[in-house]
Amino acid sequence: MKIVLTTLPKEGSAFNWVTPKYFYPDDSKFVPLGLLSLASNLPSEHEITVLDPNSFCWSIDKTIEEIEKQRPDILGISAVTLKAYSMVKILKETSAPYKIVGGPHTTNNSSSILNQGADATFIGQLADLEFVDAIKNKPKGIVYCNTNLNQIKFPNRKFIDINFYYPSSILFSANNRMSTFSSVGCPHHCSFCDVQTKKIQRKSPESLLEEMIYLQKIGAKSIHLMDDNFNTNESYLESICSEMDKKEFYSEWSGRGQAKISPHIANMLSERNFKRIHVGFESLSDKTLKFFNKPQNFSQIQKFCETTNKYGIDILGYFIIGAPTETEEDKHTMAQKINDLGIKYPYINILQPLPNTEYYSFLLNEGIYKKDYWAEYISNPVPDFMLPFPYGEKKWQEDAEFVNEMINLFKEKNENE
Ligand code: SF4
Repeated sequence: MKIVLTTLPKEGSAFNWVTPKYFYPDDSKFVPLGLLSLASNLPSEHEITVLDPNSFCWSIDKTIEEIEKQRPDILGISAVTLKAYSMVKILKETSAPYKIVGGPHTTNNSSSILNQGADATFIGQLADLEFVDAIKNKPKGIVYCNTNLNQIKFPNRKFIDINFYYPSSILFSANNRMSTFSSVGCPHHCSFCDVQTKKIQRKSPESLLEEMIYLQKIGAKSIHLMDDNFNTNESYLESICSEMDKKEFYSEWSGRGQAKISPHIANMLSERNFKRIHVGFESLSDKTLKFFNKPQNFSQIQKFCETTNKYGIDILGYFIIGAPTETEEDKHTMAQKINDLGIKYPYINILQPLPNTEYYSFLLNEGIYKKDYWAEYISNPVPDFMLPFPYGEKKWQEDAEFVNEMINLFKEKNENE
């Protein structure tokens, strides 16, 4: 059977004002790990093609043309809500007899997607085993997925040209950096965040190391664990480190996690060439941290930074500007505090209400938004959808200017070091 798995093109996406272009240029590329995992777990008799119009910056028409060229029996689309417009166009204008949509957009919007032309939607963090079944039985409607991370093979990168995906250096340099993940899900409930899986699933340390060694073999010099939250369990990190020792893994690595680390774990990671931790601090004001429902306060952030710096691990810190609790004083003191904390790479976003988040509900409940814009867009997606700025365009401009000032300040500082 001929199967095409695809991401969605950037063309027509809803306006994403969260991340400044400096951090997220128009030509950003992301290895489509979810699709590679589906492809790697299908029986080998199928002819599988993975397309990535997102990373290749294809238009919607070019994506449809490339899908049609393959004449697939089955089309699988990985969808995010911001790209609902291109998803609908592709569902309507391609001829595969069976079309499945998966990815985060399906969790709350499956009925719309089924009305928009999908034969089935997959709901769940991992859908590999259910996908194997769907290829055989072609179920219609919603399929609830419960694939266990340790029942499946890791994503084989042979379906793509991996050399195309090495990121160019923006904030820091890491030669031939390749990403994977050790776990999925995050137990916290930050008010702006749309990570949907609250129950964490972890790869066994053995299979994680098997994948990291494979990545080294195909050319990675630096491996990034881009989990939702990789450091929530100390004994798991200990097992990863002991597996690294067993396998004599010495390559550079890094991870995305939370602002909580014990001296013992920081020391253990550092001794195993762990270079950098990416952490969502979001704010350095206790009032805003509380508004965001973050699981830490400023003094815990101080302690985390002290420990991490002591063991020579660089910190990339995510921040969010634009909370209604934020004061001029918060902005005024931010750069100094970041310097004092030793946060080497600040990565600054602007607050945007994403669908199905507590923050978006807050705006509706407070009457700041008079109607549910996201619901309207999801049932009838329009190209380049623009959610109104909750506190007006002037405030948004001010926030964007402040973020640019911070970017320039730290760019200059890091260049001079
Ligand atoms: S800690 Fe990070 S991933 Fe977890 S809920 Fe908060 S923002 Fe989302």
